[in-house]
Amino acid sequence: MTSSGDAPALAWRRKTQEFADREVRPRAPEIDRNDRVPDEVVRSLAREGFLGLGIPEHWGGGGGDARSLVAVLEELSAACAAVAVLVAVHVSVCAQPILTSGTEAQRRRYLPALARGDGVGAFALTEPDAGSDTARIATRYERAGDEFRLRGTKMFTSNAVSAGAVLVFATRDPGLGHRGISAFVVPPGTSGFSVAQRLDKLGLRGSETTELVLDDVRLPAEALLGAEGDGLKIALGALTGGRVGIAACALGVARAAFEEMRRNVRADDAEWKRGALARAFVDLAAARALVERAAERKDAGEPFVRDASAAKLAASRAAVAIASAGVDIAGAEGVRAGATAQRLWRDARVFPIVEGTTEIQELILGRSLLADDESPNPL
Ligand SMILES: Cc1cc2nc3c(=O)[nH]c(=O)nc-3n(C[C@H](O)[C@H](O)[C@H](O)COP(=O)(O)OP(=O)(O)OC[C@H]3O[C@@H](n4cnc5c(N)ncnc54)[C@H](O)[C@@H]3O)c2cc1C
Repeated sequence: MTSSGDAPALAWRRKTQEFADREVRPRAPEIDRNDRVPDEVVRSLAREGFLGLGIPEHWGGGGGDARSLVAVLEELSAACAAVAVLVAVHVSVCAQPILTSGTEAQRRRYLPALARGDGVGAFALTEPDAGSDTARIATRYERAGDEFRLRGTKMFTSNAVSAGAVLVFATRDPGLGHRGISAFVVPPGTSGFSVAQRLDKLGLRGSETTELVLDDVRLPAEALLGAEGDGLKIALGALTGGRVGIAACALGVARAAFEEMRRNVRADDAEWKRGALARAFVDLAAARALVERAAERKDAGEPFVRDASAAKLAASRAAVAIASAGVDIAGAEGVRAGATAQRLWRDARVFPIVEGTTEIQELILGRSLLADDESPNPL
């Protein structure tokens, strides 16, 4: 079940397996029931270096390539998907864009703090009327002298309750489409910035998802991330990398569901159960190959947009299919409150939606396969 002979990724995987067995797996039912990841688990994640993944050492992190990140996320997610998604969002769509698009001052201010776990990283793009169609966002900003003023509402923002930094995307003028969008780093405690509600969800319950209100939030000029008008480019770049991580989280759930199914099928069981187990194995292995391929291409500096979408499609489908078959195999016991099979199915069911839906991945992948410029041979 381990990836190639890549030594750093293998070391991260082993370390995560130990950590997950000790500190995460035993608490997964409680995290699901209580709808939150306890602060002590977040502190342990920071202490063990998981929140500094991908952040260079001189910014307080522990480095780590994409293969290491997917190994960590798969292992965490196999223990508790909500914990893995907390880390995936923090690393991929908050710390990474600050690292790649931030000024030295922004990196100095936010990266060591994020790596230490002084609050987690959040990313606020989605709005009540803008999900897949990100260019439709209506949160407005205006320049007023030396500062920016933001107004609007964000939906489904993960990690915002205890955030150390929230990337907020806003438009200067919705009529400008994607060219009007800029990105801002909002620190905790900023006046006018509040969590309006925590959203109750089917799955990934421990991963806090919120509605945010920006009521005349005033930010200094230094809060702008990248150049004005580059916001959507920054968001989509972060989401492409993030998709590989989310695919690894889905893979972890698929694997946990496969392992749970295997525990529930005996050698003398009905043929259909053994058939379901066989299909689950194939789905899991195919998804794993695509997740690893996407991470390897990212690490090699090759284009990986299509690989990220393929990985996310395959892993989220595998998670849903295997977890659903797992509920069937467990029978009535599988749908009882507290049963592992139903928790895995509820968690799996969120992955085809989060960080770009199945249909959006198909659009990206289809477009990419017909374009000659990415690589002449898509295989
Ligand atoms: C648990 C969870 C955590 C999340 N965390 C974050 C976060 O931290 N930050 C953040 O910004 N957002 C977050 N989101 C939001 C998530 O990214 C969006 O839900 C997602 O992008 C889809 O948007 P939507 O829900 O508005 O669906 P819609 O865009 O309204 O889509 C509804 C349906 O229509 C389909 N559809 C839409 N457009 C097309 C098209 N052009 N062609 C074909 N089919 C289409 C979709 O595939 C889907 O099936 C989170 C969501 C969840 C569930």
